Amino acid sequence: MSRVEVHISLDRPGFSLDVDLNLPGRGVSALFGPSGSGKTTLLRCIAGLEPSAQGRLCVLGEIWQEGTKRLPPHQRPIGYVFQEASLFPHLSVMGNLMYGRKRTAIKDIFSLDQAIELLGIGHLLERRPEQLSGGERQRVAIARALAVCPRLLLMDEPLAALDLARKREILPYLERLHDQLEIPLIYVSHATDEVVRLADHLVVMNHGRVQAHGPLSETLACLDLGEEAGVVLQGHIGALEPEWHLARVDFPGGSLWARDQGLPLGRAVRLRVLARDVSLAQQPGVSSIQNLLAGVVDALGEDEHPGLALVRVHVGESLILARVTKRSAATLGIAPGQRLWVQVKSVALME
Ligand code: ADP
Ligand code: MG
Repeated sequence: MSRVEVHISLDRPGFSLDVDLNLPGRGVSALFGPSGSGKTTLLRCIAGLEPSAQGRLCVLGEIWQEGTKRLPPHQRPIGYVFQEASLFPHLSVMGNLMYGRKRTAIKDIFSLDQAIELLGIGHLLERRPEQLSGGERQRVAIARALAVCPRLLLMDEPLAALDLARKREILPYLERLHDQLEIPLIYVSHATDEVVRLADHLVVMNHGRVQAHGPLSETLACLDLGEEAGVVLQGHIGALEPEWHLARVDFPGGSLWARDQGLPLGRAVRLRVLARDVSLAQQPGVSSIQNLLAGVVDALGEDEHPGLALVRVHVGESLILARVTKRSAATLGIAPGQRLWVQVKSVALME
């Protein structure tokens, strides 16, 4: 089966990593977790850079590590992107792209032109790294990682060192990459906004352990991210109302209206629905809220604030999180299995 199987443990004074993961062989798996939780260490183990890592690593059917057998780092077909673009300062952009490529045997998977086109760096090829902006440098670093024709891409907080404007500049490139990439990408981040836009699969790490993992929507729905608690619904544009500048997004189990962003009918999109924007009611009251869905309570959980509760509700096949006061939870008598109405006050549409 073409998957990424990671069964790795590592002991350091004051820190241990113990991970057992079976990730999809395609798409973006986000490694998410607080600083110090072991995300970088896990990537380094996968890249073969941690000699004391024990266990088994099998990538798309090829064993990279098992028992005493381990492929040295340079024999692992990996594209690695770090937080700070580590380009060779004395080489041009083209020189940087060619550097890793010369040493790879397989050149079939990703053509250099494809990588250049995908990251929009065709006009930068003659420049030196010092003549690039931070965002451009990071795009080149991503293209360079693709140019080695990897079987697996690893990105370690590639946007973390950039300011918000640069981050916004690069995210669309990463989204295109996500759509076109046929190899797995393990993407480390502690930023929820990146994860909800890019990830298909979510791995939540804490203290060197996997706290939760699974498909993005389900896994997010089981996490309390404080103010950012919420879900992502994956669907497509099902209808447009140009007169009102609204777009209807159909997802498994329902549909919601969002502000139209000029996307065509049928386009696959994601909706971010924050728990604080969702309320629950027994009756579908008359209000200005038009996004009303029939739901069934799945579970009731604690919120960070003692006066609030997080309620997980099934809407068809999807899950939605609602943050309500404990008082209204008590008034509504919220309990698993209960049918109620889910009112969504606002949603963010993402391409
Ligand atoms: P994250 O990437 O999630 O922030 P890291 O993998 O960098 O976490 O770190 C995990 C733990 O390992 C932390 O406790 C960190 O202090 C420790 N650590 C990281 N690198 C080293 C190192 N080279 N030597 C010793 N300890 C390290
Ligand atoms: Mg790190």
